[in-house]
Amino acid sequence: MISWLLFLGCNTVPGPFVQETTEHEERELHKVSETLDASLFKRGPQSQGGWQLPPEVRVCATAPVSERRVKKALDFWRDLGYSFSRIYYNDVSRHCIENVFSYNTIIIDLIDGSHREPALATTTSWIDRETREILKAKIALKNSWGEADRILEHELGHALGWLDYNQTGHIMHHEWSRGGLNTAGVEVQ
Ligand SMILES: [Zn+2]
Repeated sequence: MISWLLFLGCNTVPGPFVQETTEHEERELHKVSETLDASLFKRGPQSQGGWQLPPEVRVCATAPVSERRVKKALDFWRDLGYSFSRIYYNDVSRHCIENVFSYNTIIIDLIDGSHREPALATTTSWIDRETREILKAKIALKNSWGEADRILEHELGHALGWLDYNQTGHIMHHEWSRGGLNTAGVEVQ
């Protein structure tokens, strides 16, 4: 099963950097670079997959973000038509402590040793390559950036399947400083 998972990592950067990685997990580790071109803007934001059922959200006790901030970000996506199932705050379960595969779960935690500067946050998604079903997503936030405007919303956008969309003012813009609250194209249809 694991060998068929598409393993996507996305970093949100503070300024004009272009850093996008798409990797396949473990034995099938090879990099695929994505190119942005004008046609991408005509097509609008692109989705890599979706959840079969509304995912649980586990906010680890070590996540550098308040419960209030998480609720605001979840409501942002609920207003666009997305659903979440159970939300756990201050989670100290094995999903946060051990490296278990947590199906149907979005985990929010602090960055770890795999963090790559200058990213402010990283979302890693495990997606079934054939069905495009998202099985798990992990959002890692950098200390002191968890509460910042739009960062958690942007990362949740990745966790819900959206790729970066570099239109100025858009919630899915890769560069935090050029992003905004425009949600065109990412609403549930
Ligand atoms: Zn991004």
